[in-house]
Amino acid sequence: MSDQELHGSCLCKNVRYEVRPPFLRFSHCYCSRCRKATGGVRATNIAVPVDQFRWTQGEELISRYDLPEAKSFARQICTRCKCPVPHRSRDGQRVIVPAGTLDDEPATKPAAHGHWSSRVSWVAVDESDLPCSE
Ligand SMILES: [Zn+2]
Ligand SMILES: [Zn+2]
Repeated sequence: MSDQELHGSCLCKNVRYEVRPPFLRFSHCYCSRCRKATGGVRATNIAVPVDQFRWTQGEELISRYDLPEAKSFARQICTRCKCPVPHRSRDGQRVIVPAGTLDDEPATKPAAHGHWSSRVSWVAVDESDLPCSE
């Protein structure tokens, strides 16, 4: 059950994918780059090995941006609805999936708050049971 494929899509549903657990990482990130990239207080991303991910529709609609000054920060969007979709890490080893693009419920929950000390003062999260890094 826990390694059942999960389906995801962008806002306009033209880009669709499948991702298979187990995840390498499932966590929140409060860094300034993730704020810009999402427009929200944090990003919640899932990382999986590339062989546990596949596009099922609309891959040709995807546009990629690699932040030049970053070692690995990147994002991809659907060019129709301009919303985030998963992207492959620059080293080609992993796929980073914005968890909010999932249409199915993952069996696990985020395990950590990344870059917690970089959070904005107006974050109001009561998930202090999770470990906070940095
Ligand atoms: Zn779209
Ligand atoms: Zn971040």
